[in-house]
Amino acid sequence: VSTAARPLVAEDGRLTGAVVVYNDVTGWVEALAANQELVSNVSHEFKSPLNSIIGNVDLVLDEVAALPPHLVRRLEVVQRNSERLLALVSDLSATASTALNVHPKRTDLASVVETSIGSAQALADQSGIELAADVPAPLWAYADPLRIGQALDNLVSNAIKYSPDGGRISIRAQAGSRWVQLSVSDTGMGLGAVDSARVFQRFFRTEAARSASIAGAGLGLSITKMIVEGHGGTISCESAKGEGSTFTLTLPADGPAAAFQEPAV
Ligand code: ADP
Repeated sequence: VSTAARPLVAEDGRLTGAVVVYNDVTGWVEALAANQELVSNVSHEFKSPLNSIIGNVDLVLDEVAALPPHLVRRLEVVQRNSERLLALVSDLSATASTALNVHPKRTDLASVVETSIGSAQALADQSGIELAADVPAPLWAYADPLRIGQALDNLVSNAIKYSPDGGRISIRAQAGSRWVQLSVSDTGMGLGAVDSARVFQRFFRTEAARSASIAGAGLGLSITKMIVEGHGGTISCESAKGEGSTFTLTLPADGPAAAFQEPAV
């Protein structure tokens, strides 16, 4: 049941009553669960044939010297597209689960940022994009380093993808007593206010991204949001069309007290 309530206030400010609306949302919840189960089953079933295609193409390409060059080029296209499809299917199955597996622990986010920059550097260099981080080390948070790494990789690869050549991407940090923030800013195409509010929805892509033929499925940010919310954190987007974007993750600085106890010796 979903509920909504509003106070009834008289003209002189006196509280005279309340309106409470109860809604039976059983049908909606059941439909959502069925939808998620379908997506999850379909993506699971797609994985093994795709892995078989990729494995066999890899084996054939191992014999590259024995193959005519024009066939090698064709096989490389098959390899690239099968890998893309597999990544897409993995993204889909991740968004179909109601909660992602997140295993938070005391984590130095500065080293997570460093790893993320390391893996994006080659791609940024190709487009002459400067990638810079201003993050104090260590920067402790209660986070799953692999999942936050995945979230950061998504934000950094988007920043590269949606920026013109020669842009600049910066990762900054802000630490409070209870929360730690990491933000990824770019000098790219940016988003209008309406789009900024919708970027975390599954399959949402801006008209600008589509018409510039930038590859994508509109799933990365919805997964990023699930990861951050799985930590009890939040994600936001600040942007203006043509003026770049800043995506900010807010994560808890501390976990439950028990997580920080030294093991007994
Ligand atoms: P994808 O990039 O695969 O399309 P995402 O979920 O990561 O999917 O992003 C959703 C949409 O949000 C993108 O298609 C793009 O329109 C917009 N977007 C995301 N990041 C940026 C960015 N840094 N600058 C401008 N637009 C962005």
